[in-house]
Amino acid sequence: MPTSVFIIAETQDATLSNTAAELLGAARGLADSLGGDVAAALVGYNVSALAPQLGELGADRVLVADDPSLEFYQGERYVPLLLEAIRSASPSVVLLAQSFMGRELGPRLAFELQSAITTDCVRLAVEGDRVVMTKPVYGGSAIADYVVETTPQVATLRGRAFEPVQAQPGRACEVQQLAVPAGDARATFVETVRAAADTGPNLKEAKVIVAGGRGMGAPENWKYVDELAEVLGGAVGATRAVTDAGWVPASLQVGLTGVTVSPDLYVAVGISGAVQHLAGITGARNVVAINKDPEANIFKLARYGVVGDWKQILPALTQKIKELRGG
Ligand SMILES: Cc1cc2nc3c(=O)[nH]c(=O)nc-3n(C[C@H](O)[C@H](O)[C@H](O)COP(=O)(O)OP(=O)(O)OC[C@H]3O[C@@H](n4cnc5c(N)ncnc54)[C@H](O)[C@@H]3O)c2cc1C
Repeated sequence: MPTSVFIIAETQDATLSNTAAELLGAARGLADSLGGDVAAALVGYNVSALAPQLGELGADRVLVADDPSLEFYQGERYVPLLLEAIRSASPSVVLLAQSFMGRELGPRLAFELQSAITTDCVRLAVEGDRVVMTKPVYGGSAIADYVVETTPQVATLRGRAFEPVQAQPGRACEVQQLAVPAGDARATFVETVRAAADTGPNLKEAKVIVAGGRGMGAPENWKYVDELAEVLGGAVGATRAVTDAGWVPASLQVGLTGVTVSPDLYVAVGISGAVQHLAGITGARNVVAINKDPEANIFKLARYGVVGDWKQILPALTQKIKELRGG
């Protein structure tokens, strides 16, 4: 059967990234409508053992490139290898995650394939033999449909916008090795330093986020945001006003020029709801806003709003949740 959808899986610390299950969920739906197979590329170092998992998640064919020179993403190494694999599979659609790697790799592949890319898609639908790719535009204030008229149609998918597919234990797949191009990369990785924020739940993948804004008043009050996030098992986010002031690291900034998030629950404390902040949270399923100004823009997006001073609300809310959780 011809390959209709080609996905590029990502790994971290010798495990598949959660985005692989989301890409394969989207890919299976498309492949079933377009009538073809799903191929998955697995590129990295010490990743071969993960190939069967991609099969269980719905890949019919897994193309593996496992080599020390591929341990870290480098366009110079990854692009030629994947181009070759995509050209020989000749898919209709290529899907990547809207991640650090996907955002760089996707456009490069689309360019080399003389095709086009739609980034940050939140929905895909088949119409005839084309895929309609939907994405938020104008900072999330509008939604636009795109059709790439050249083949393959390349898209990056926003994290948590697509349902991850459930694994079918024992589902078999064909595994093929990809030839790793010879030669050294021009850049060498000397050291990888993990940001402190990476030790908690990953902001992009978090199901629960508690975010604070300038309304928290001072950096010493930030502990109340941290505490609520901790009892909820969530990640911590912030507005640019807060990251610019140096209260928390810039990696926690949510919004147009920060991280785009799609949690089930987003608790916004002392955040006014500037369009640049809202642009990052349009994918949040439930926004709970705590703000002393009843006219604050954040309430327009909020499912539940609490008008009041966080100093009265936040400690009491955290305490109540602790009690309910038996802590
Ligand atoms: C090009 C550009 C890109 C930008 N990108 C981003 C981005 O990616 N992310 C982002 O967040 N911003 C971004 N901004 C900045 C954005 O425009 C806002 O300035 C910022 O989001 C405001 O942050 P804030 O809500 O924390 O602060 P403010 O707007 O000052 O709001 C503070 C809120 O706290 C409330 N408050 C005060 N005291 C209390 C209290 N005791 N209890 C409860 N509520 C209280 C106030 O009523 C107010 O609504 C960008 C701006 C530009 C120009």
